[in-house]
Amino acid sequence: MASCTLSLHVLSSGSCGNAALVDYQGHLLAIDCGICKREYLRRCADLHIDPCAIQAILITHDHSDHTKGLGVLARGLAKQGCHPAVYVSDTVRDASPRVQELERICDVHPMSAGSSLSLAGMQVMPFHTSHDAAESFGFRIEAPNASDSCAQNDVLGFMTDTGIVPDAAHEALKGSRILGIESNHDVTMLATGEYPASLKRRIRSDYGHLSNDECATEVSRLLNDSLEQIVALHISEHNNTFGMPVRVLESMLAHNGHHAHVQAGLPRTPISVS
Ligand SMILES: [Zn+2]
Ligand SMILES: [Zn+2]
Repeated sequence: MASCTLSLHVLSSGSCGNAALVDYQGHLLAIDCGICKREYLRRCADLHIDPCAIQAILITHDHSDHTKGLGVLARGLAKQGCHPAVYVSDTVRDASPRVQELERICDVHPMSAGSSLSLAGMQVMPFHTSHDAAESFGFRIEAPNASDSCAQNDVLGFMTDTGIVPDAAHEALKGSRILGIESNHDVTMLATGEYPASLKRRIRSDYGHLSNDECATEVSRLLNDSLEQIVALHISEHNNTFGMPVRVLESMLAHNGHHAHVQAGLPRTPISVS
């Protein structure tokens, strides 16, 4: 397989905390920080990543599993002389005291769906997801490829925390080589599990989370020659297993004769995909 430009590091994924990094030739973009600073730094060290190479932090939405570690992490990085800028929508900032607190520590810039940002040598296109937060986003991230054997631009798609796939999100994910996509729950495990009915309804709603089958359906609509790596994200520890999203995706790929590699993003063990 050709060695292309972008990598995705998933430091933590799931309802207990989400944090990911996109790596372009050693320049890092962070997506969310829903874990504590100590774990964030330990997992970076496990992957031989220097957190001072983080040039910007993107925030998907205001839920605490995506934001609770941001302030302490930003303060910790500032002590080491590192000052990544934070990109967040005005609506998410207004809804989140944690994000407002960040304005005292770092530069906070506005972000909006459909407006491309140029960050750390990458082009970042935020798009809306469908979730019960003040506002919520996924990202299409592109960077020029160094190698002739790769496509002209390397593309990484990232989408979690969405009850459905809006048309604009589907369009933005097209052509991804690396795709990080939510595969939150198995519908039967959720239906028969112990969650209260109101929470089950919330998860299954258009503003909740994608099931394994919904994830596989969306990926099946995105299959093309560019797609090499799929990472199943935000996997529920109560209503799913870490094997099931991988099996569902692999059987969809086999059915379509596609050879993309699939793995699960984990809550406690960091993984890298390139
Ligand atoms: Zn979440
Ligand atoms: Zn959420």
